[in-house]
Amino acid sequence: MLKKFLLPAIAAAALTAPSSALADELRDAVASDMPQLMDLYRDLHEHPELSFEEVKTAAKLAARMRALGFEVTEGVGKTGVVAVMRNGEGPTVMLRADMDGLPVTEQTGLPYASKQVAVPASGVETGVMHACGHDTHMTAWIGTAQLLAERKGEWSGTLVMIGQPAEEIGLGAKAMLDDGLYTRFPKPEAVLAFHDAAQFPAGMIGYSPGFALANVDSVDIHVKGVGGHGAYPHTTKDPIVLASAMVMKFQTLVSRESSPLDPAVITVGSFHSGFKHNIISDEAKLQLTVRSYSDESRKLLLDGISRIAKGEAIAAGMPEDRMPVVTLEKDYTPSTYNSPEFTESVMAGFRERFGEARVMKVPSVMGGEDFSQFLRASPDDTKSLIFWVGGVPQAEFERAQAGEISLPSLHSPYWAPDAEKVIATATEAMTAATLDLMGLANVQ
Ligand SMILES: [Zn+2]
Ligand SMILES: [Zn+2]
Repeated sequence: MLKKFLLPAIAAAALTAPSSALADELRDAVASDMPQLMDLYRDLHEHPELSFEEVKTAAKLAARMRALGFEVTEGVGKTGVVAVMRNGEGPTVMLRADMDGLPVTEQTGLPYASKQVAVPASGVETGVMHACGHDTHMTAWIGTAQLLAERKGEWSGTLVMIGQPAEEIGLGAKAMLDDGLYTRFPKPEAVLAFHDAAQFPAGMIGYSPGFALANVDSVDIHVKGVGGHGAYPHTTKDPIVLASAMVMKFQTLVSRESSPLDPAVITVGSFHSGFKHNIISDEAKLQLTVRSYSDESRKLLLDGISRIAKGEAIAAGMPEDRMPVVTLEKDYTPSTYNSPEFTESVMAGFRERFGEARVMKVPSVMGGEDFSQFLRASPDDTKSLIFWVGGVPQAEFERAQAGEISLPSLHSPYWAPDAEKVIATATEAMTAATLDLMGLANVQ
């Protein structure tokens, strides 16, 4: 569900920072695991499955986790996997990977490119691809599980690792929570995840404390009119003119009613009305995506959309029984909040490990991520962090910086990350962060 990032000015030299002594043992262990992790990655990449259909994917993850000694439960929130390792007193930490691919026909030309096809909800057969890089997430998640299982003597507490379905449709995290993620299994004090990033060079870590990703709401508006002959508009109430007024006026919610310091987006992504040149239709249908960070800002935008829709209909002289119908999609993706102190403390560890230049604070984005649900379900007892791991191959990044090429975004059929660097970096980062949280030195 993530889209484009702003391209920060990053020196290519940033990624060649020397590793500290602290990093060496863990980094060596990651390096020796990489050949088998890349085998897993290529297998996952070649066999993506759509949201809530991650059956074979989940089975692969579950089998590996069982072999590592985790207690594994499958089918949590339809196709989710929960793997628990109890290892004495101490905090409960949850690590999440999302498992779904997208209805995108892969065009990367990679030898292990997906040839899978499926029929999504639209009913039109499509290729399926890990175009959001969730295959890198799952592989690093397995890599992290292996390292933590091997290092049971170095940490104490309860490790909960989840394979989450259906991130792309924003429903998987909630499905797992509704199916008892925090009641049937140990409830975490800290939840961690990463996402690959299509605008940062491979191996770079990016983070945003506080709001990192947006509230994502979908709104449908059924604008009613009074149809008739195109040559006699005075005998009609033209829904296209009325809906057009709404489209323009909605932008004033962003420009005049929201604080300039509070990001907001209203995009009318779909506008349908009419069938022929000379007929005024009796309805128009609009579909909007609405983005915000805070609950207050979200309310301001959604209330404003209803008010403006109705107000414009009144201004157009529509009768009471022909008012527009505004429908808000019930399941929205709430904004993702990175607990600020927790984020900074994890990043301090990353800076020490990876070097200052490889860890960068980056702007928040207006994309959405249902990782947000894990904090929302337990706001008082849990802290959460999702960070970016850059995936753009270094040579391509440099060509893009020079203006020679433009980079594919996440969800592009051409997105081919430097998976090895993403997975190695993320495995090391997730393992190190977990050891910091659960390391014996930190357990009282
Ligand atoms: Zn995505
Ligand atoms: Zn994604």
